[in-house]
Amino acid sequence: MATRVLIAGGGVAALEAALALRDLGEGRVSVEMLAPEPQFWYRPLAVAEPFGLGEVRHFDLAELAAAAGATFSPGALAGVDAGGRLAQTSAGSSIPYDVLLVACGAVPTPAVPGALTFRGPADTERVRALLEEIVAGQVGRVAFVVPWGAVWSLPIYELALMTAAYLAERELDRVELALVTPEDEPLQLFGRAGSEAVRELLEEQRIAVQTGSSPVEFVDGELRLVPEGTIAADRVVALPRLRGPRIDGLPQTVEGFIPVDPHGQVHALSDVFAAGDITSFPVKQGGIAAQQADAAAEMIAANADADLTPQPFRPVLRGLLLTGRQPRYLRHDITGGAGDVSSASPEPLWWPPAKIVGRYLAPFLGAFAGVEGPPEALSAPGAVPVEVELDAARVHGLATLRLEPAPDAEGKGGATVADAMSTDPLVVAPEDTLGEVAERMRAGDIGSALVADSGRLIGILTSRDLLRAFAGRVHPSEARVREWMTAEPVAVSAATPIVAAVTLMTEYGFHHLPVVDDERPTGMLGLRQAARQARGRTGIGLGF
Ligand SMILES: Cc1cc2nc3c(=O)[nH]c(=O)nc-3n(C[C@H](O)[C@H](O)[C@H](O)COP(=O)(O)OP(=O)(O)OC[C@H]3O[C@@H](n4cnc5c(N)ncnc54)[C@H](O)[C@@H]3O)c2cc1C
Repeated sequence: MATRVLIAGGGVAALEAALALRDLGEGRVSVEMLAPEPQFWYRPLAVAEPFGLGEVRHFDLAELAAAAGATFSPGALAGVDAGGRLAQTSAGSSIPYDVLLVACGAVPTPAVPGALTFRGPADTERVRALLEEIVAGQVGRVAFVVPWGAVWSLPIYELALMTAAYLAERELDRVELALVTPEDEPLQLFGRAGSEAVRELLEEQRIAVQTGSSPVEFVDGELRLVPEGTIAADRVVALPRLRGPRIDGLPQTVEGFIPVDPHGQVHALSDVFAAGDITSFPVKQGGIAAQQADAAAEMIAANADADLTPQPFRPVLRGLLLTGRQPRYLRHDITGGAGDVSSASPEPLWWPPAKIVGRYLAPFLGAFAGVEGPPEALSAPGAVPVEVELDAARVHGLATLRLEPAPDAEGKGGATVADAMSTDPLVVAPEDTLGEVAERMRAGDIGSALVADSGRLIGILTSRDLLRAFAGRVHPSEARVREWMTAEPVAVSAATPIVAAVTLMTEYGFHHLPVVDDERPTGMLGLRQAARQARGRTGIGLGF
């Protein structure tokens, strides 16, 4: 009998996986797709929509699934009983599976209070309204900002450059535009050539650039930055921070992302895979999502005895950076079957703008929409080819909030985490049952436990996680810590300046922060103790 693969999701990773399984599965797998929305959204052109230069398309998911050899069921994955191989839906039904692939994407959430968050198609009208305000002379300074954690920063560069082009066309040259990013260089992910090309382009368009700064809030005309500084602005447009949807019974990070191995397998759960934006790989991009889906599909097909050697996920950013050294040239859009639409316009920065690079998905969608890629992009003026193999450690570094010690704190001898942390945290094992851990937490009158495997910190379990599990009616002596913990927790070292740790806790909304020494758990920092220590030693007001 064929292996029943249930794919939760109907986006880029889900479709790419379904197509790969059809190709590689040798008829040994059957695929069912489960998604709450009946449409597949094709979002890359969302940045061009407010300027009237492109349109976000959507396709009927049931039709796409059928063309990919899969069935489609409407519904949302709410929980997983990995032991019983059952997927639970939000409507309360259970779907049996042999293999589950979780590809539920991520949810954009505002990251800079006070800013206009650009999440995609939903915000087209708000950006349009901002352009009208600028044209009407009501807004003179606009900052486009990348919050920490948003590693795929390209859309904000495109928005800033398209705004500059839009204003130049209307000869509104007094409007001041700025771009603020935690990256060391603009579009750092694209490598040196890409960064230099974009820096030149920003200079040409007179967009002021501030790198190495994380915008954290916009209040009363001031954009506050971490580690320090402010910028005056009338409006701020920010990228969102992404969050994974919560799915009971799966280990997820504090942001809701699922850690997987290089073949897409969810740690410690058999026959559960994940791919795309919902995984803890920090680059949330369609091409990367498709590469993850391919790696997972190969492993699933190999486990079903298909004749192949599964290759691990090797993230490569591939495409062309279009710098458009001439002001206008042709663009083709996917039109959903109605043929080509060409238009002369300032061009999106990234090629292929109307295609997400996916081994199976790109030709499949192209054929579905009846569109071929325009060859002129390859010889576009100023085009910079990008083929960067992404180093996992480096991109994880890009995703975290950088907190250089405040000069004040250092000058005063620098209170550190060691001054405020407790040194006897409760440490439990991933295989412990929730009942055992709840008892130990109650006995110690503590709200959280650190989870270690072979001495290495892999998770944290808080009383909130226990509540979530028990509300889901799990059995205390059957449910395991690994299914309900927060995986890959954010941690600090004992030498971290206390001010930096408090900023981190405030930004994330943490009450507890694990302390590690070379990945080994050594302590726990509570927010109250940390804040007291920070105020006492530095005299810095931290706003709470
Ligand atoms: C404005 C914008 C521009 C972008 N531009 C580009 C670009 O130019 N190039 C590029 O490569 N990438 C781009 N991206 C990123 C790209 O769209 C994503 O990285 C990619 O879609 C991720 O694929 P995914 O399958 O993980 O998630 P998605 O494509 O978001 O799909 C998630 C799917 O899961 C479904 N789902 C959600 N919750 C559940 C649940 N509980 N159970 C079952 N299903 C669920 C959703 O309905 C959806 O079908 C852009 C994104 C945005 C927002």
